[in-house]
Amino acid sequence: MVSTLERDVREKFRRSGYTLTSQRRAVLEALKDYKGHPSTEEVYLLVKKRNPKVALGTVYQALSVLEEIGLIEAKRWSESPVRYDLNTEPHYDIRCTKCGEIAEISNMKVGDFVTRIQENTPYEVTNAALVIEGICPLCQAQG
Ligand SMILES: [Zn+2]
Repeated sequence: MVSTLERDVREKFRRSGYTLTSQRRAVLEALKDYKGHPSTEEVYLLVKKRNPKVALGTVYQALSVLEEIGLIEAKRWSESPVRYDLNTEPHYDIRCTKCGEIAEISNMKVGDFVTRIQENTPYEVTNAALVIEGICPLCQAQG
């Protein structure tokens, strides 16, 4: 059976003109298995476990293609390498500045934020990224 994501993957590759190579597929599979917000290095290590010959540059390149065609999202926090997210639905993530733990913030509509910005600028808003950082409950408990 073809899953929804699988159909989405094929469709986005078809429309982009990029080829769904085995390396790009392997990188996508690694992201699916990781279930979090891995950095390039972390994705690389996971892909390498299954395919020891893979090069870091190949993983970099595959991630950038996947981001470009909208299958994954890149998150850029301060003091952290770029992290990748398979969830491309508009949502906010918060990162703990002490331990690096990342969590999704629920019940916050991203559209409201963009609408508010658009109401306050004569520019046409084409992209709005928000970096949210804090201290997670575990780190708070440790004082
Ligand atoms: Zn923490």
